[in-house]
This record gives sequence, C-alpha cells and structure tokens, in this order.
Amino acid sequence: MRIILSLSRVTRGLLSMLLVALATFVHAAGAPADIRLYVFDCGRIDARDMGMFDDSGALDGRPGTMSVPCFLIRHPKGILLWETGLGDAIADRPNGIDFAPGIHGSVRVKLVDQLKTLGLKPSDIDYLAFSHWHIDHTGNANLFRHATWILQRRELAAATSATPPPFESLAPVSAYRNARIRLVDGDTDVFGDGSVELLLLPGHTPGHQALQLRLPHAGVVLLSGDLYHSDEARRLRRVPRINVDRAATLASMDRFEAIAARAHARVVIQHDPRDIAALPHFPACLH
Ligand SMILES: [Zn+2]
Repeated sequence: MRIILSLSRVTRGLLSMLLVALATFVHAAGAPADIRLYVFDCGRIDARDMGMFDDSGALDGRPGTMSVPCFLIRHPKGILLWETGLGDAIADRPNGIDFAPGIHGSVRVKLVDQLKTLGLKPSDIDYLAFSHWHIDHTGNANLFRHATWILQRRELAAATSATPPPFESLAPVSAYRNARIRLVDGDTDVFGDGSVELLLLPGHTPGHQALQLRLPHAGVVLLSGDLYHSDEARRLRRVPRINVDRAATLASMDRFEAIAARAHARVVIQHDPRDIAALPHFPACLH
C-alpha cells in the first residue's frame, strides 16, 4: 500500500515536472497570450479633396471618406489603448467640425460610452500609444492621464520642437506633461512576450509607428497607423504630400510588407472604412 502510495506520489511529481517543462516549451515557442482586440468607432473624416494623400496628383480634386478607429487590446498584463480618435467633444456638435476647409470631422458615438459598454472607465486604461500625433489620432488623449504613455522619443521631440509636423498640436495631448511616460526608440515589445509590438515606421511623421498583434486564434494582425490611407494607397504605394520624409515612407512600406508577408498577417488599414467594417463589430472582438 505504502509502495503504491509513494509510486503515485512519484508519478504525480513527474507529471507536474512534465507539465512545467511543457509550459516552458510552449512559452518559448511563442504561444500567443490570451489577448483580445476591440475596435471602437472614433469618428469619420470626409474630405472634399484627397489630394494631400498622394504626391503624384492622382487624387487631386477627388473626394473621400476615412474611418477613424481606436483599438483596445486586452492583455493578461494590462489594457492598451491604441489611438484616441477625433475627440468626444465633436459628438456634441450635430454638424461635426471642419478641421480645415473641405476636411470635415464627425463623431457618432463617444469613446467613453464605448468603454462603458466594456465596463471600463478611462482610468482603467493602463497603457496608451499612438501611431503618431496628428490630431485625428489624439482627440481623446487627455482622458487618459492615469495611463502610462508609450511614446516614440522622436515623435515627442518633433511635436515639441519649434517647427512641429503639420496637423500636430500639443493641446489634445497636454496631459503627457504630467503622465507616466515610457519613452522608446524604435520597435518595442509592450508586454515583453512578443504578443503586442510597436513597429517604428517613420515617414508620415518622424516617429510614426504601426502595431503588431499576435492573437491566439486570428494570428498576426497589423494595424497600419497612417502608413497607408486606403487599400488602393497600399497597392499603389501612394506617398501623401503631407508626409515629412518621402524616402523614409517608402522604406517603411518595404519593411512593413516584408513583415506582413513573413507573418501571413492580416493588415488593417485604419483609415479604410472597408477594413474596419470587416473586423468584428463592437462589442464583439477579435482574438
Ligand atoms: Zn490619420
């Protein structure tokens, strides 16, 4: 009896050692963490003339509509918000606002209300990151002063310089001055397990970046930032006139496409309404 008991104890010991070894192996092999991606409607932009988005002139005089999404990533180690949209204040204006002549912004539903649907308040967001600091990405940033702001050093430097890139303003991001900041230089593994990674892809602005996610079921998803403004722009390698560096933009496109091909990634062009409509409709998520 005692022999059987000690044998079973040995068996249990061996079994737990095996399980630990297996877990270590699975982790080392890059098993995706249990993460979920939610997409919020953070507004839309209607432009009378999309000319600024192609320096070849092919879009001159042509109108266009762009989606403005925000993304929430739930990771076992915290919640990351990627982008903050046009700004909830615009939702209170039934006719929206004109950012510039012929560039109209509107917000149908507030980000805070979409967070509420998930049972969250702005103070529940642990980390905040942006593809870049153009005002269509920073509208609600100051709601998240409790979060750790993960900022590319060169984006912050450009935005706070005497000659900031066009369409950048410090007003909607003023909370950065008192927030906890994690300044980064280049690609950054947000949670340290390879599941959520910032990819520095400069050109649109000096510190422009995309976000790479490794989801347990959906696989690798790449959120484009403003590397491209539509699927056509990606196919045709359109370089917007408003970009700060043409050569850097093309190099970033090459790098992004190599990463996408290698990982068989699902690419989401954030400003392309078709790509956003193809994602699970909130409050459903991709995981
Ligand atoms: Zn944008």
